[in-house]
Amino acid sequence: MRSTLPCLLLVFTLPAFAAETPADPLPPPEATEYWTPVPPIITANPGSVPSDAIVLFDGNSLDGWQPVRAGESGWKIVDGAMVIEPNAKPCDQVTKQTFGDIQLHLEFRTPAEVKGKSQERGNSGIYFMGLYELQVLDSYNNPTYVNGQAGSIYKQHPPLVNASRPPGEWQTYDAVFVAPRFAADGTLVTPARITALHNGVLVQHDSILKGPTVWRGQPAYKAHAEKLPLLLQDHRNPVSYRNIWVRELQLPVPAR
Ligand code: MG
Repeated sequence: MRSTLPCLLLVFTLPAFAAETPADPLPPPEATEYWTPVPPIITANPGSVPSDAIVLFDGNSLDGWQPVRAGESGWKIVDGAMVIEPNAKPCDQVTKQTFGDIQLHLEFRTPAEVKGKSQERGNSGIYFMGLYELQVLDSYNNPTYVNGQAGSIYKQHPPLVNASRPPGEWQTYDAVFVAPRFAADGTLVTPARITALHNGVLVQHDSILKGPTVWRGQPAYKAHAEKLPLLLQDHRNPVSYRNIWVRELQLPVPAR
């Protein structure tokens, strides 16, 4: 007759083994969940402007804009687009409203008829706060200095790639601009930063600006208002713009 002792031992030792399993070392999932503040609800349907955006140009009116020098203009509306009319004396356009941190969307088109080369071809620009330029240029088979081509932060950062479409085609810019912060005594606390997508492709990732855009010399910060107008550059080339909107943001800035 076979002994039943091994089976009995197994039955009586299993519960003792289970009791020695270590406790779950992680806190409950609820410990890392928070429910407030609740993000505002907006609508963002495909192909339409987000419900919390400010439309700066919808194809019908330049009411949101004014020439940088009163009494001059040179810009007109043609087939729903805001178009630069080249004059001997360029005249930039600025928004009547002022902005700090923003998300920007716009579409631009450089002239189908190619004239000039390098910086003289389809040149314009988006100046955040009227000071910090995201370059607009016809950079389709148009060599120039790389920190001055389309998608560059002019004279500071070249784009990660050249995503330019041929001249005469509409192109998009989507950008996030973080305004610089200044202390009460005028010293710089945090610099301006730009993230930008050109035709849906990342060309600037949180690029840190050295100061306002300058053509010659080195940029240097000088304290300015928390909000300033957005500016579109007249560089004597008939560049067109349409579907311009911004969303005002108040972004956290990293400690320096
Ligand atoms: Mg320019």
